[in-house]
Amino acid sequence: MEIIAYNTTESFAAEQDHRDPLAHFRQQFFFPQHEGRDALYFCGNSLGLQPKSVEAALQHELEQWRRYGVEGHFRGELPWMHYHKFLQSQTARIVGALEEEVVVMNTLTVNLHLMMASFYRPDAQRFKIILEAGAFPSDQYAVETQARFHGFRPEEAIVELRPRPGEETLRTEDIIQTIEEHGPQTALVMLCGVQYYTGQCMDMEAVARAAHRVGAKVGFDLAHAAGNVPLHLHDWNADFAVWCSYKYLNAGPGGPGGVFVHERHAADASLPRLAGWWGHDEERRFQMEKGFVPMRGAPGWQLSNAQILAFAAHRASLDIFDAAGMTALRRKSEALTGYLEFLLDDLRDKGMNLRIITPRDPAQRGCQLSVVAGPEGRRLFEYLSSHGAICDWREPDVIRLAPTPLYNSFGDVYALYRLLHDELRSGENLSG
Ligand SMILES: *Cc1c(COP(=O)(O)O)cnc(C)c1O
Repeated sequence: MEIIAYNTTESFAAEQDHRDPLAHFRQQFFFPQHEGRDALYFCGNSLGLQPKSVEAALQHELEQWRRYGVEGHFRGELPWMHYHKFLQSQTARIVGALEEEVVVMNTLTVNLHLMMASFYRPDAQRFKIILEAGAFPSDQYAVETQARFHGFRPEEAIVELRPRPGEETLRTEDIIQTIEEHGPQTALVMLCGVQYYTGQCMDMEAVARAAHRVGAKVGFDLAHAAGNVPLHLHDWNADFAVWCSYKYLNAGPGGPGGVFVHERHAADASLPRLAGWWGHDEERRFQMEKGFVPMRGAPGWQLSNAQILAFAAHRASLDIFDAAGMTALRRKSEALTGYLEFLLDDLRDKGMNLRIITPRDPAQRGCQLSVVAGPEGRRLFEYLSSHGAICDWREPDVIRLAPTPLYNSFGDVYALYRLLHDELRSGENLSG
């Protein structure tokens, strides 16, 4: 990481924006407005902003539908019949996969169940699932009901990873130790890539290695990692991964999910799976025969035909990622989040009750910083909202701030600092 000598002057932010090679991408997005100006948007971890190109992408598909009706499946430059293929290479670049290892389909939790149907195959000896305590609720419910589905009690089947007393985030060595402790009984390690609450980025490579060493399968939930941190799923050897597209990937509310299945499972027709016609051998899909024959790779897990309008929006958003490139995005992201960290520390030093719980090491986080804001946190959050800074609040006392490198500027971060600074000066948030 480039070492930047941050300071608290406005000219510093302006200078960084001036030198930012990605600065122009901001123009490609619509910002919510606050009192006639762009709001300070730090919620790309929850719902990414709308790319201006999405409207034309939707119009294009509406036009195809209007013009061709059902024949739109076979006509035009992007025939619907093959639509998943038009998102495959861009998606593969984002998660570090071979093309055949990824497919866009369904939504995240649906895909998590589909993946667990194939990769959580418990028996009397090996039935445990290891995941982080306080995982995103949908993941907890999925894991809990999968355990029950196979006849296990969640209390015996689920092993939760917890930070050490007095710590907020997990240590890789502790994760590995837990995997080893439960080794022979562990069927699946199911971990987030970036934790939604703390913003911690896991060492997925080390976790995958440890899981495989004890003979378990390993899957990652990349809801907060896809489009946020560099990923190398193929090289890391994950068995599967799932993610959504509406957070950092900017595909719009309810946007389609994505799935990774490692190449070594690509041709394994013996893997149990919940199938549908869209995963069936393409050449024979319309012969309407009995007997499921999966397509090779991740596309063999598809169930249904593509939701074209949602996919079209996602495709438009992926084009922007491709143009920016994950390497450049990550470089800016480290600088931008480091800047936010520096300014929050400055406010803390000046007496504001703020405590960053996200790891300080840039390698262990993405762009998000989670800040414990104490008993006054909720009020501080509301103060920010009413002054046009959109961030989010997570019970009991955390404000999450996610400056995304694609459309946030150093100026945005500085403006947030000024808002907080004004609040501090007003004397209401002194921690004494
Ligand atoms: C956002 C998020 C989800 C959302 O799941 P959907 O099925 O897309 O509604 C699930 N898991 C994690 C970790 C998330 O951050």
